[in-house]
Amino acid sequence: MVDFSLTEEQKEIRELAKKFAQTEILPLARKFDETHEFPHEIFRKALEIGLLNVNIPAEYGGTGLGLMEEVLINEELGWACSGVAASMEVNNLSNWPILLSGSEETKKKFLPKIVEGWRGAYALSEPEAGSDVAGIQTTAKRDGDSYVINGSKQFITNGSVADFYCVFAYTDKAARYGGMSCFLVERGAKGVRVGKKEDKMGQRASDTVSMHFEDVHIPRANLLGKEGDGFSIAMRVFDRSRPAISAIAVGVARRAMEESIKYATERKAFGKPLYEQQGISFMIADMAINVEAARLLVWRSALMPETGEKCAKEAAIAKAFAADMVMKVTTDAVQVFGGYGYSREYPVEKLMRDAKIFAIYEGTSQIQRVIIARELFRPR
Ligand SMILES: Cc1cc2nc3c(=O)[nH]c(=O)nc-3n(C[C@H](O)[C@H](O)[C@H](O)COP(=O)(O)OP(=O)(O)OC[C@H]3O[C@@H](n4cnc5c(N)ncnc54)[C@H](O)[C@@H]3O)c2cc1C
Repeated sequence: MVDFSLTEEQKEIRELAKKFAQTEILPLARKFDETHEFPHEIFRKALEIGLLNVNIPAEYGGTGLGLMEEVLINEELGWACSGVAASMEVNNLSNWPILLSGSEETKKKFLPKIVEGWRGAYALSEPEAGSDVAGIQTTAKRDGDSYVINGSKQFITNGSVADFYCVFAYTDKAARYGGMSCFLVERGAKGVRVGKKEDKMGQRASDTVSMHFEDVHIPRANLLGKEGDGFSIAMRVFDRSRPAISAIAVGVARRAMEESIKYATERKAFGKPLYEQQGISFMIADMAINVEAARLLVWRSALMPETGEKCAKEAAIAKAFAADMVMKVTTDAVQVFGGYGYSREYPVEKLMRDAKIFAIYEGTSQIQRVIIARELFRPR
């Protein structure tokens, strides 16, 4: 039987996130959008009440929630500010390689520190390689009991505030996908340098920088899994991070819909509220259809990794749909607001700017379609 009802615990977690989003994030969202500052204080408070690093199991001091709870939280955080929500989600993202492939020793070394407040960043993309993951140039060479990492990473969320980085690098470039490995690099390691900060269109509360690794020596134990496991780690992480990021898009779209309902009720044209014009009420009805449909896809894709089922296609479908959906809904919200929608005094222009990135990061919407088509045409 398909059951869409949430447990009491899930409802409580969602309520906690909703209250946090309304009281701690929403009042500061505009400020962070304007100043492009990192929301340190929000991170501190989120850590305190258990809304950060929700995927770390209780045995390492974490809250040990599942992906379903993570997407419930992310929708609420995204409703208030998707830049803040994306930054917080990147902590979960950079925990996944450790959780999926770290040895017990590595888990015991890193996870308790993360629970205490360490921040992570996920360093896969490079200046010359985003969609084409196999095109990365970063290398990791064995040197006795160390690896030496050299290379540059591009568009790294949380890069300038992170305490550790999950860095993807080739241990054997000739082996292509099979020669990529994943390493944990601590911020303090000699040769780690934060580069240029991007001046972004949206999600400006999140920090996006280039990172440079110059002859960085790290302990051999910081290799996650075996040499050559990197590509498979990245793909297994995508199965989890795509639903999580798509939930933030659902939150942004739901907010745009709610703002549209409020405005269309208050604003009058031709002697009656805007919503009494069918052209407007249908636009808002379409928002509701899209938000609901995206949420269901996100929930389904969030439940799949825990069952062990193959779910790359379902994660890609949820991500592609949510990314297209949030752009359409936020663009229509600006339309509902008319000229005021285009003004920074009203909330919807920020939502529209914030929405664009969902079709780019965590794999572009074209790449999601490449994955979906590959699965549809895979010989059986
Ligand atoms: C704000 C922000 C935050 C980010 N955070 C992170 C992060 O934390 N960690 C990280 O590793 N990366 C991060 N990224 C990088 C992001 O994942 C990449 O930008 C993305 O994967 C696209 O890569 P690219 O920019 O190199 O574009 P390209 O790969 O050069 O693509 C350019 C265009 O070509 C299209 N294209 C490429 N190949 C194909 C194909 N085979 N078929 C059809 N179309 C194709 C793409 O869809 C896109 O439209 C972030 C990016 C941004 C902007």
